[in-house]
Amino acid sequence: MADIKDRGDRMEEACGVFGIYAQGKDVRAADAAYYGLFALQHRGQESAGIAASDGETIRSHRNLGLVPEVFDEETLGALTGHIAIGHVRYSTFGGKDVINAQPLVARCRMGTLALAHNGNLVNAEALRAQMQEQGAIFQTTVDTEVILSLIARESGRGLIEAIKAMMGVVRGSYALVLLTKDRLVGIRDPYGIRPLCMGRIGESFVLASESCALDAVGAQFVRDIRPGEIVAIDAEGVTSTHVKTPLGSRLCLFEFVYFARPDSVIDGVNVYESRVEAGRRLAMRDDVQADMVIGVPDSALAAAMGYAEESGIPYGDGLAKNRYVGRTFIQPEQGMREVGVRTKLNALPRNVRGKRIVLVDDSIVRGTTSRKIVEMLRMAGAKEVHMRISSPSVLNPCFFGIDTATSEELIGHDHGADEICRYIGADSLHFLPLEDLLRTVNGSGCDFCTGCFDGRYPIDPATGEMLGEE
Ligand code: AMP
Repeated sequence: MADIKDRGDRMEEACGVFGIYAQGKDVRAADAAYYGLFALQHRGQESAGIAASDGETIRSHRNLGLVPEVFDEETLGALTGHIAIGHVRYSTFGGKDVINAQPLVARCRMGTLALAHNGNLVNAEALRAQMQEQGAIFQTTVDTEVILSLIARESGRGLIEAIKAMMGVVRGSYALVLLTKDRLVGIRDPYGIRPLCMGRIGESFVLASESCALDAVGAQFVRDIRPGEIVAIDAEGVTSTHVKTPLGSRLCLFEFVYFARPDSVIDGVNVYESRVEAGRRLAMRDDVQADMVIGVPDSALAAAMGYAEESGIPYGDGLAKNRYVGRTFIQPEQGMREVGVRTKLNALPRNVRGKRIVLVDDSIVRGTTSRKIVEMLRMAGAKEVHMRISSPSVLNPCFFGIDTATSEELIGHDHGADEICRYIGADSLHFLPLEDLLRTVNGSGCDFCTGCFDGRYPIDPATGEMLGEE
């Protein structure tokens, strides 16, 4: 099962998924999927795709690029039908190829299936090799094709049993939306590592990685899909099946730190509020003397607000952001990443000159962003720059779908806070302890994967062994 050595410890893709089953055959589900994916664009900027069914035929379109670049009136217009799924894929080093764009579409005994996946399997390579030995052919290098092949292989048992059989052998994180010619299915892995929720517009049902996509299409939130749950939606309504799940769920904590949109609610936790609370807790532990709190746009603004509220130090704008630049990580090479930070952010000298600044960001991964921003603020005349991070130091790579970096690239892997502080050139540096971060999400009732912060992964990335199983 251990394919970890082959992959290095490089993280794989993080993505967004969307699905809609519209009651009323004249509704164009692909249009809703387009707007749903637009709302999930922050989860993936490398490729986008939609597959739609009119009850008889599945048609799909996918390509590299942002949602509005991939679709125009003609390509979207061709996707007729009242059921649709969609996918946006995050940029990863190496895997940039249209063949890996999703949804994947395949024909099997059950007819045509289309599948979109958010997450990452740790035993995909081993399963792929096994199936290839038995004669299976693969067209892509993504885990999703392994999932699709496993479902197709068991198709004699009927769709739900085939999905259960697949869930019995794959190990890793997966939030899936699957389309048959007349059904929409949503699946969440037994630990619920990646989010997936369900909404409703009248009699029509929607599935999405985050609730912000439900809002975008005017759907009311119904509930989160439970860990280990399979929901199938068709003309008769919704049916739900569960596979055996481990004792505790393990929702990814990094969704709240950085990845999710602040207007989403995931497993009962409001992302914005959790970030404000993280900032407050940073301030509770701090007694730094400063004149102004600023946040790194956009993902750290809520935490900066919380820090300012709790500390009583005024909140201000210290950085301007270019709205047309995507997430800094898109550039795979370090040199380009540094240019990326400068293209994305610039200091506002009028506001920071002569001031002692508390600079709040949500995370330090490689240290590139913090180092560049501290330098910018100093060049703009800041007297002191005190860096505050609203999460713990990232010590380990993620094997379950957040694309951050390898161990060697992670500055926190081999360096303590003092060394990192020197590297980024700040006057002081504090991280939020893990116990405090966990308190910001404790309204959810679920447990969390904290592997990137403390190495406690729910599934052993090397062996695929599920920890805490009954
Ligand atoms: P770094 O510059 O490598 O230290 O990365 C930290 C910065 O990247 C912070 O400003 C975060 O908001 C942001 N960030 C954290 N995790 C990710 C991720 N998985 N993808 C893209 N950006 C990220």
